[in-house]
Amino acid sequence: MGKSSKDKRDLYYRKAKEQGYRARSAFKLLQLDDDFHFLQQAVRVVDLCAAPGSWSQVLSRRLFPQSSDNSDRKIVAVDLQPMSPIDNVITLQADITHPKTLQTITELFEGKKADFICSDGAPDVTGLHDLDEYVQQQLILSALQLSTCLLRKGGNFVAKIFRGRDIDMLYSQLGYLFEKVICAKPRSSRGTSLESFIVCLGYNPPANWEPKLDVNSSVEDFFQGCDIGKLRLEDKCPNYHEEPRSIATFIACGGLSSFDSDATYHVDTSTPALDPVQSPTNPPYKKALELKRRGKMTRAI
Ligand code: SAM
Repeated sequence: MGKSSKDKRDLYYRKAKEQGYRARSAFKLLQLDDDFHFLQQAVRVVDLCAAPGSWSQVLSRRLFPQSSDNSDRKIVAVDLQPMSPIDNVITLQADITHPKTLQTITELFEGKKADFICSDGAPDVTGLHDLDEYVQQQLILSALQLSTCLLRKGGNFVAKIFRGRDIDMLYSQLGYLFEKVICAKPRSSRGTSLESFIVCLGYNPPANWEPKLDVNSSVEDFFQGCDIGKLRLEDKCPNYHEEPRSIATFIACGGLSSFDSDATYHVDTSTPALDPVQSPTNPPYKKALELKRRGKMTRAI
């Protein structure tokens, strides 16, 4: 977050700074939880792809209100990037696609299951649309694999998705694992973006299915034994018939009274620009800044 650049244009950006959140995306989780209340009973919670940490801040504020007994509650936040500390959150610099990450979280929870898992994961984009969409889907599947190993029966899962061509397939797969699957668009998520959030309530895996993460096995192998495997293309092709399309319920949340993320609001020009809540820990432009400071940014020709 910069000091003033977007303060006047994007109300959520401004509000995030006013309320001490590291990123405007905090409002997406707040608006989702206000509608679905998945944090109400949560004790053990995992925030996947968590940096810079605004979702973890929301989790911390909602799970650790000052007045109640919070002794059993635990929040684990995982990201490839380092994160500055957040009250009541254990931060883990790790790759969510690696089985070792599952092992570490299980140890932190002392073998107990999680009640809620969220993933706001986004890979670095290449600009090659098909490749970007594929990598994003793989990241969602990795978050889902991890969640099937960590969630208790009845637990909830929320993940960012982009409503691309093949999203129906994901809805169908999730429908085999959760009692209710809803596609939700919070008011703070720009209407012009394909971004939405899949809200999966009531984890209910098939009986006798024991998910096992292994670095050498594919996603298909992982879901063997679970009904998701039945959706493989080979199974459909020999005697092709159209499966009924699985369309998840679509809900706009946040309420009409909340700010519209695509609108430009008039902000009093005398309102002072606010400093960023948290400076980046290790920004990719750090080296360039250092070279510039030492006057070594130029190249000899
Ligand atoms: N929810 C965060 C917040 O509110 O501050 C913002 C998350 S940001 C949009 C997406 C994050 O996904 C990035 O920090 C990136 O490092 C992380 N990410 C992408 N691939 C990952 C992976 N394989 N394992 C862990 N984190 C990953």
